[in-house]
Amino acid sequence: MESDPAHIRSSGARAHSGRVFVLPGIEARIRHAHAHAEPGRHESARPRMLSLDAHGRILDWISWQDAACLYARDAVAWTLGEPCMTLHGGYNRLLEAPSVLALHPIIAARGHARGSARAPSPALTNTALFARDAHLCLYCGQEFGRHQLTRDHVQPLSRGGRDIWENVVSACIACNSHKGGRTPQQAGMPLLAVPYRPSWVEHLILSNRHILADQMDFLRSHLPKHNPRAM
Ligand SMILES: [Zn+2]
Repeated sequence: MESDPAHIRSSGARAHSGRVFVLPGIEARIRHAHAHAEPGRHESARPRMLSLDAHGRILDWISWQDAACLYARDAVAWTLGEPCMTLHGGYNRLLEAPSVLALHPIIAARGHARGSARAPSPALTNTALFARDAHLCLYCGQEFGRHQLTRDHVQPLSRGGRDIWENVVSACIACNSHKGGRTPQQAGMPLLAVPYRPSWVEHLILSNRHILADQMDFLRSHLPKHNPRAM
């Protein structure tokens, strides 16, 4: 039971290396993720639209092309926010004018109902994991770039640990190799925070570097009231 993360559940702030360590909450991680936005070669700076089902349940980010298809198929139930992109099409003979399509930042679509009432679970990727942990090594507390971080299994895979959100943390290369195939208790390396599964909304916020103000307001209002990191 020593390796049970619940064992250290009360460690949101703890003395570490002679100082009190406080992990950043979601607001700090949002600022961090967006301050470090580096549009990659494959990442368009164009905004993505937030898609909802007709009941207002949050689905996912969609490209402006997919959003345009919803408008063209008359599948938009309702929208939120001021139009954020205007597409100019060909000449519309019916209107005797060039066709113009204004896309909204938040789009509720007919026929896109979420399978279940429960929000989906974010996929566990290293990018998503490092964003959850604000690019901090959860053993030494230092901040690292993406390529200096690794996925550490708190309960090692070799000891039956699973590759799930609740059993993985960001760790720098030095801490990960020092810990080796041991539990934090065995290695004498206490975790700075309890690993947890991010909510779908938190995942959407951390996975998009070009969130528009209307979208951010909407997503923030849907964040879980209880922040697991602010214990
Ligand atoms: Zn470290």
